[in-house]
Amino acid sequence: MGSDTDTPEWPTDCTRCFGLCCIALAHQPSAGFPAVKPRDTACRHLDADFRCTVFDRLEASGFTVCRPYDCFGAGPVVADRMRAEWAPWTPAMVATAHHHLDGFRDLARLRMLIVALRREGSDDAHAVADRLEPAAEAFRRTGRVEIDADTAQFMRWHEALISAILTPLEEADTAGSLDEEERHERS
Ligand code: SF4
Repeated sequence: MGSDTDTPEWPTDCTRCFGLCCIALAHQPSAGFPAVKPRDTACRHLDADFRCTVFDRLEASGFTVCRPYDCFGAGPVVADRMRAEWAPWTPAMVATAHHHLDGFRDLARLRMLIVALRREGSDDAHAVADRLEPAAEAFRRTGRVEIDADTAQFMRWHEALISAILTPLEEADTAGSLDEEERHERS
């Protein structure tokens, strides 16, 4: 929930979000999240104003995965689209807005890849990030992550690079946060 990736274009400002990470993501009891939380379900610590009621004692309460989580600016962008569609949202309503929650997961993953590619810093990594940036920007208009055929082909050419960057990040991001359905799909 904090970030060194905050930019004017992709703010990681939780006050502009609807607690999307606290609703969209799934968790199994783990060292960093001592509770079961299916995806598309509001965490029991999320209040009606989309604030975490244990935020000042997350670590003491065992929720150590929460503060380091970074949506890379996906949350406020999805929330802007939600605000344009309807107001006021409640946590229960957000939990049923599956297309927005799917969009949040997809956009957060895409933004994570773009940021990681920029950080890797090689010419190839920047070239892939340059191809992906328009897809992230297009989300603001469409509400969907869509990778065109040329970009998909370009990504296949750089599959080894992308996998080397993304795999450890996804493993860290999903450690202890897969629901049973996802575990089954991945096994
Ligand atoms: S403990 Fe707080 S920060 Fe973590 S998921 Fe629940 S409401 Fe969100």
